[in-house]
Amino acid sequence: MDRDEELLLAVLNSAPVVDGRPLDGLDGTAGHELARRWGGTGTAEEIAQLRRARDAIQSVIRESDPAALNELASLIDGTVRTPRVTRDGVVWELDSPTESSLPLHTVLAWSTVTTQLGDRLRACANDECNLFLVDHSRPGTAKWCSMATCGNRMKARTHASRSRS
Ligand SMILES: [Zn+2]
Repeated sequence: MDRDEELLLAVLNSAPVVDGRPLDGLDGTAGHELARRWGGTGTAEEIAQLRRARDAIQSVIRESDPAALNELASLIDGTVRTPRVTRDGVVWELDSPTESSLPLHTVLAWSTVTTQLGDRLRACANDECNLFLVDHSRPGTAKWCSMATCGNRMKARTHASRSRS
């Protein structure tokens, strides 16, 4: 998994449903730690923007919601990339307020992943699950965030409903 994908999934999957209850992994210490792990500062302002980015990207993946696209546009509005020439080539540096940097990188990571992989970035097919996956399987038919949890659970359910009817 490349870094864009890892960052994107870390943020997207920070709102799991556990035992039927939605949790917000960006709340409190967990959110602070997630932000720090990805080079953020963990301030309340940054986490608030990160949450907006997460929720908007989730809606865009699920239903191409136009309001969510506007939300993403407003998160990256005014971003400037400045070229810097180094021995290793041209590096584009993002010019943004510190607290916007991680949310911005998350939106750009989504853009890169979705441009390269299209609908291989998808929501788990278990509608009681709120996790997302990037499907790297050759046929491109992966449906579950994890075979061990959702995959087996959904198979068992299909089996149960088949044997009832
Ligand atoms: Zn799942």
